[in-house]
Amino acid sequence: MRPRLPSPLREAVDERFARHGVRLLLKRDDLIHPELIGNKWRKLAPNLAAAAGRTVLTFGGAYSNHLRATAAAGRLLGLPTVGVVRGQELAGRPLNPSLARCAADGMRLHFVDRSTYRRKGEPETLAALVRATGCEEAYVVPEGGSNALAVRGCAALGEELRGLADVVVLACGTGGTLAGLAAGLSPGQRALGVPVLRGGFLGAEVRALQEEAFGGPRGDWALDDRFHFGGYARTSAELDAFAADFEQRHALPVERLYVAKSLYGLMTLAGEGAFPRGTTVAAVITGTPGPS
Ligand SMILES: *Cc1c(COP(=O)(O)O)cnc(C)c1O
Repeated sequence: MRPRLPSPLREAVDERFARHGVRLLLKRDDLIHPELIGNKWRKLAPNLAAAAGRTVLTFGGAYSNHLRATAAAGRLLGLPTVGVVRGQELAGRPLNPSLARCAADGMRLHFVDRSTYRRKGEPETLAALVRATGCEEAYVVPEGGSNALAVRGCAALGEELRGLADVVVLACGTGGTLAGLAAGLSPGQRALGVPVLRGGFLGAEVRALQEEAFGGPRGDWALDDRFHFGGYARTSAELDAFAADFEQRHALPVERLYVAKSLYGLMTLAGEGAFPRGTTVAAVITGTPGPS
């Protein structure tokens, strides 16, 4: 599974940016690998290498891109995978398209109730969970895949953009990709994250991830919390219309859980005059629309 790296960078001519003197580039991380969605390749590849043949056990909700990517990676590399899925009530029901894909890729699904899922970070709960799945030797990857190895893997994204953009914008779930990206950029470049979950907790998470991965803060990054549309997988008619229109204009399939919100945020910022004339902005296309 040879990845396409560095991922392609192309200009998108869009009058909504051009009229403010802003040049828009699309950093096509969605083209890195046809089956390992976008930034998930950058995060998973170093972890699967570290797993060194052991079963990979990880966590996610019923629509998690991370679970899907882990399952695909397991199939491609011949590693067994186990997915601990939030929601005991899903057990015994037909799988949604996302989980069906995980299962088709050979991932063993283990459903747990929400309160256990919430406590999976506690060592005893985690140990009990791992035992319940029957894989004591498993290599455990956290929910969303953001650990130190993943964050360091994402520094390459920043390195690929050195000298090519003034501002880099991307959607954030756990913040792991942003933490690595910011570390890889050169001085004078900045990264702007658009959280797709609500709650305003992400700044602390990114700082903690940089501490874990690099031993301290790295790079110039900020968050704009205005574009989560009410939370994960929440949307609005306006956002859907924006995403459909962007697909038409730029012949780009727009992933709706993350990418649509970051592009919408970026367009709003350009409209507000947030970028001085002459700014080059790179939007990271972190993924592709999944099965649905
Ligand atoms: C997982 C994912 C993200 C979020 O990455 P984090 O490192 O968790 O912030 C962004 N975009 C897409 C398409 C994703 O699948």
